[in-house]
Amino acid sequence: MARYGILIDLDRCIGCRTHEVVCQQEGNATVRQDTLSICRTNAEGKKVLRYLPVVQERCSTSKTCTQRVKEHLSPRCIGSCPAQARKFGKVEELVDYVTRRRIPHTHLIPF
Ligand code: SF4
Repeated sequence: MARYGILIDLDRCIGCRTHEVVCQQEGNATVRQDTLSICRTNAEGKKVLRYLPVVQERCSTSKTCTQRVKEHLSPRCIGSCPAQARKFGKVEELVDYVTRRRIPHTHLIPF
């Protein structure tokens, strides 16, 4: 059976938290999404904020989004991201996508 996941490109994420709002609007009461702000030092030695979207529960506990996936649609948070930082698919395909495009900083959330 294929394993699915949500890939987040951390260099694209702007920390707007829109995905959290959309997740709540979908009634995904069992899924808690957060976006952590992390202060890091970049290559020039400057402090920069980076954002790390995480989920506290597996998104696959959401009836709404599992139904959407059964209908060959993505979870609602994917299309809501204004930075197009989120991508949904089979884990193997997401790993291949990251490798081919050489995307350096990603986070993969199992679905
Ligand atoms: S909606 Fe997209 S850009 Fe905004 S916090 Fe979530 S992943 Fe990041």
